[in-house]
Amino acid sequence: MREYFASGATLSIEFRKQQLRLLHDSLLAHEQAINEALFQDLHKSPEEVWVSETGLVVAECKLALKKLDRWARPQKVLTNLANLPSSSLIMPEPLGVVLIVAPWNYPLELLLGPLVGAIAAGNCVVLKPSEFTPATSALMKNLIERIFDSKYVWLIEGDGATVVPSLMQSFRFDHLFYTGSTAVGKIVYKMAAEQLTPVTLELGGKSPCVVEADANIEVAAKRIALAKWNNAGQTCIAPDYILVHASVRDRFLAAIQRVIQTFYSTDPTQCEHYGRIINTRQFDRLVSYLSNGTIHYGGQVDRESRYIAPTILTDVSLDAPIMQDEIFGPLLPVLAYEHFDEAKAIIARNPNPLAFYVYTESTQQEKKWLAQVPAGGACVNNSVFHFLNHRLPFGGRGNSGFGVYHGKHSFDTFSHSKSVLRTPSWIDPAIKYPPFKGKLSLLKKLIG
Ligand code: NAD
Repeated sequence: MREYFASGATLSIEFRKQQLRLLHDSLLAHEQAINEALFQDLHKSPEEVWVSETGLVVAECKLALKKLDRWARPQKVLTNLANLPSSSLIMPEPLGVVLIVAPWNYPLELLLGPLVGAIAAGNCVVLKPSEFTPATSALMKNLIERIFDSKYVWLIEGDGATVVPSLMQSFRFDHLFYTGSTAVGKIVYKMAAEQLTPVTLELGGKSPCVVEADANIEVAAKRIALAKWNNAGQTCIAPDYILVHASVRDRFLAAIQRVIQTFYSTDPTQCEHYGRIINTRQFDRLVSYLSNGTIHYGGQVDRESRYIAPTILTDVSLDAPIMQDEIFGPLLPVLAYEHFDEAKAIIARNPNPLAFYVYTESTQQEKKWLAQVPAGGACVNNSVFHFLNHRLPFGGRGNSGFGVYHGKHSFDTFSHSKSVLRTPSWIDPAIKYPPFKGKLSLLKKLIG
């Protein structure tokens, strides 16, 4: 791969577009097989697969195909006085051979979404999907092997704890794009540091959701329920817990209960678009949280099919494990608060979440919350949907990671911005050369 990259094969914009077209067409041609694999791994419906997996990668391909000429064009910037009459430009150049490591919750989108940016920027790519979604992983391997030369894009399967260290110890990647847990993020960050490999870390954490006293409760309940119980809560930016103003707590609880029944019926086991927990280890972890509060709604589980009903917990202690760990499942603690500072202090126990959500009809409250909760991203009167706007850079901060992607931001992440100064030789003022004696006042005018 290193040699292939060095040959310059990936440099031309036409080559990159050709590869993006191959990926785009192949995703569409295999839509049915993708749906089947994701149903097998996570019980996802075709609609959900399109909206949160295949459709997003297809849209990223289309955007990159449309905009790549502009993105890749060197950008002219103004030149400072001391460098005149030079001209200055910023030239995006590919990083080289990059590694993309993905988790299991959106196994196609989180592997192939970043791939679009890496291809658009002209890199060679090693892909490492999660071992916990074997059907989707095998399908993607087959698809990648069919459309790309293995010297250009190569997918390697296997246990992450073995495969990733062995890859990173035997080869110096030019970038690591990692999506997954904060615990493993720390491990890969250390390995990357050994090789001075730059990293993007897309991690997890607890994303809080505030429902203010003046919120439109019916709408808030619908939007929160959609974001929380899609993929059975196994979404990095799902609302982790709710902080609802005490004056509207009971109304909110009643509304969200009604919404769950409308979305998933009174028996979600029969609902074809309600997801299952990825494996028994995660199932057991989630079930252990059920005793961390009062089950206000739901609570039914079935270990054999790894089913956990949409569940609302109340009377949850802040020191309980469910309020310490990222939940990453269909359990939703609802906590009431009286004052802004009280809710803010609860959020501050897990600083820098990947996402923060506030439901309010007041612009003043909105501004106050947005200014006071540092987070990777945020929505006002919405949850999760900021992920879908490619113009918004997606990423975390602090505990939830660093670096961003989506659309042009992905292209930038997988490119180096090379600064170029072009200086003509028809003029060559003596001021910049020694001897410098007597030139200080002029130099002070030019610089500083
Ligand atoms: P994970 O960290 O267990 O695994 C992610 C990837 O890392 C997998 O490909 C796995 O094989 C690999 N891996 C596992 N152990 C490794 C090791 N020791 N060294 C190197 N690589 C290793 O994460 P997961 O359980 O698959 O995913 C869930 C987590 O991912 C949650 O915390 C969630 O919030 C987070 N997530 C974040 C985003 C985001 O965009 N920020 C998106 C989805 C999921």
